[in-house]
Amino acid sequence: MTTMTTEATVPFEELLTRYEPALGLEVHVELNTATKMFCGCATGFGQEPNSQTCPICLGMPGALPVVNATAVESAIRIGLALNCSIAPWCRFARKNYFYPDMPKNFQTSQYDEPIAFDGWLDVEIPAEDGEGMATFRVQIERAHMEEDTGKSTHVGGATGRIQGADYSLVDYNRAGIPLIEIVTRPLTGAGARAPEVAKAYVSALRDLMRALDVSDVKMEQGSMRCDANVSLMPIGSTTLGTRTETKNVNSLRSVERAIRYEMSRHAAVLDGGGSILQETRHWHEDTGVTTSGRPKSDADDYRYFPEPDLVPVAASTELVERLRTTLPENPALRRKRLQEEWSFTDLEMRDVINAGAIELIEETVTAGATPAAARKWWTGDLARRANNDGLPVTDLGVTPAHIAELHQLIQAGRLNDSMARQVLEGVVSGEGTPTQVADARRLTLVQDDGALQAAVDAVIAANPDVVEKIQGGKVQAAGALIGAVMKAMRGQADAAKARELILETLGVEG
Ligand code: ZN
Ligand code: MN
Repeated sequence: MTTMTTEATVPFEELLTRYEPALGLEVHVELNTATKMFCGCATGFGQEPNSQTCPICLGMPGALPVVNATAVESAIRIGLALNCSIAPWCRFARKNYFYPDMPKNFQTSQYDEPIAFDGWLDVEIPAEDGEGMATFRVQIERAHMEEDTGKSTHVGGATGRIQGADYSLVDYNRAGIPLIEIVTRPLTGAGARAPEVAKAYVSALRDLMRALDVSDVKMEQGSMRCDANVSLMPIGSTTLGTRTETKNVNSLRSVERAIRYEMSRHAAVLDGGGSILQETRHWHEDTGVTTSGRPKSDADDYRYFPEPDLVPVAASTELVERLRTTLPENPALRRKRLQEEWSFTDLEMRDVINAGAIELIEETVTAGATPAAARKWWTGDLARRANNDGLPVTDLGVTPAHIAELHQLIQAGRLNDSMARQVLEGVVSGEGTPTQVADARRLTLVQDDGALQAAVDAVIAANPDVVEKIQGGKVQAAGALIGAVMKAMRGQADAAKARELILETLGVEG
């Protein structure tokens, strides 16, 4: 059993009066290529352990690697999207260290010759004055290619850590999966906003990878992982303090929390006259603290040397320029453009983003609905339903075409709002398209004006007191009569039409 001691911390707001943070973010992105970085093994997630391996990714003596061309193209596209320069010539390097989940005892990575370098990414955080957004430019030092390691499982202990475990299992399915590591330059000048900037950066990076379609960027499955370097320096100083590196922070929220915690912990150590131990830290999601990992000095000797079994990568200008033409619209600019096109307020757009519904609304509008109607359904009933079921809204079985069709049925006067909700329920339950559900459930507004007039006449006759009020000038009292008419029609009437008929029958101007 490891015992967890609580370390001293300084309240976040207080430490900012004395210290300025510097962050360095290292994000590993697993590429979604069909095969591994240096062999033909498949890359599917969650397969039978060690079923996707071969002599190359198991590091057998004499096995020779071959570079995955698609992975190189993805690396170049990522570099270009991050405004990096692309190296006309670069090499892989061996990073030597011993770890049981790394069968070759070295990781094939890149060292002083990364494929992409010197870029930047603009990220947005809510402006200090609460109005609109503020832009923060994160400088990118490099993006390089490497391979993932295998995965160890420690069995028998209480914590799942190696300490106290009875035995350990290693699964090499992940060994050799292509990774791109994206490293920022020290991020300073953000002060109190530093943890938010870090979270916004990882979020923007995730959006960008998705838009590029190079990774499924699932932080919870580890296909995107963030290591956060944190240090503090006294305000006014320009010398970076000693840093710690918090490993594998696996959600956006954790990125922000882990950095806040480390800043608070560093401040307590420095205030007490101590010095920060340069080390890796483990983030604990449940308790919201980090604990000590292993010491890590700058002089850590990985004995890097150029990989002799792989030829250098030299992408031609033509290839780079062709890949540049495949870049998607920048996700942040795209959001701005769509917000204008759709005439959504900042608040409405935020709801849409939070619901993960941008693409859905775009497709629903293309299928013929108005932006307002598309937003109403996707961020309203459907977002609530998805939230209740713990599913992404895209997994409800409702398509943009369904919502556009539902909208047409309302526009055409066949359904009112509450009937449309019932129809949507049917679609979610797999009963068919909106028209099929409306037909099967006999949901249709009564188009027979005679029947509606008869109901109006009956309601007027039954409510002389309400009629008196309306005729005395209180037109809003008509609401009670409309309700009674809708009830008489079993909800299958057009409420606006009922109102019109009531006022017309009573000879009152609406
Ligand atoms: Zn293999
Ligand atoms: Mn790495």
